[in-house]
Amino acid sequence: MIKENLIKLNTEIPKNVELIAVSKTKPASSILEAYEVGQRKFGENKVQELTEKYNLLPKDIEWHLIGHLQSNKVKYIAPFVHLIHAVDSLKLLVEIDKQAQKHKRIIYCLLQFHIAQEETKYGLDLSEAESLLLSKEYASLKNISISGVMGMASFTNNTTQIRNEFHSLKEIFTTLKGKYFKNQDSFSILSMGMSGDYQIAIEEGSNMVRLGSSIFGLR
Ligand SMILES: *Cc1c(COP(=O)(O)O)cnc(C)c1O
Repeated sequence: MIKENLIKLNTEIPKNVELIAVSKTKPASSILEAYEVGQRKFGENKVQELTEKYNLLPKDIEWHLIGHLQSNKVKYIAPFVHLIHAVDSLKLLVEIDKQAQKHKRIIYCLLQFHIAQEETKYGLDLSEAESLLLSKEYASLKNISISGVMGMASFTNNTTQIRNEFHSLKEIFTTLKGKYFKNQDSFSILSMGMSGDYQIAIEEGSNMVRLGSSIFGLR
């Protein structure tokens, strides 16, 4: 069903919204099924699994790390990762820059924001992000590019709450764009929306959705 699911999603999702196929826990054979119908952007949430799949699979796949990243693991993905979605500290950004420099690359990053009610989810708030962006250390980084923001809504059936949380992330995006990235076209990504809530996320302005179970089935 992977191919059918993807084809259907691609007709449903607006053209300006990028679809990241979240393949965590799924075998390489499932990724290849999606690849065969043209999918090239895949997301994983664990460094080891991402690295193993990178080594096994076609090299024109664009890999996204969507899960929490520890500084000591950046070195494993720095040679190939396209976009890191969950940057939530200056320390992590400094390490990504250092590793990107070693490989003479620019690594694209999103700042992760805590928009959910739940305590357990990682992420910055607006004032933390602003102090990061105003710091001297951030100004000195040459091999990273902050391309936008990412967030996860609460795991709830309350669609009003989900909508409000996505709306708040869109406002954060707009604020940061206006204050810190005004003339930078590369700051353009609003990564929000998973299988259970991507329609609401798109209505609230998402231009990158991360879909796992709606493509590959339940984990
Ligand atoms: C697992 C995961 C997804 C995809 O979740 P589904 O509900 O299967 O679509 C999206 N984003 C992040 C950060 C994830 O960890």
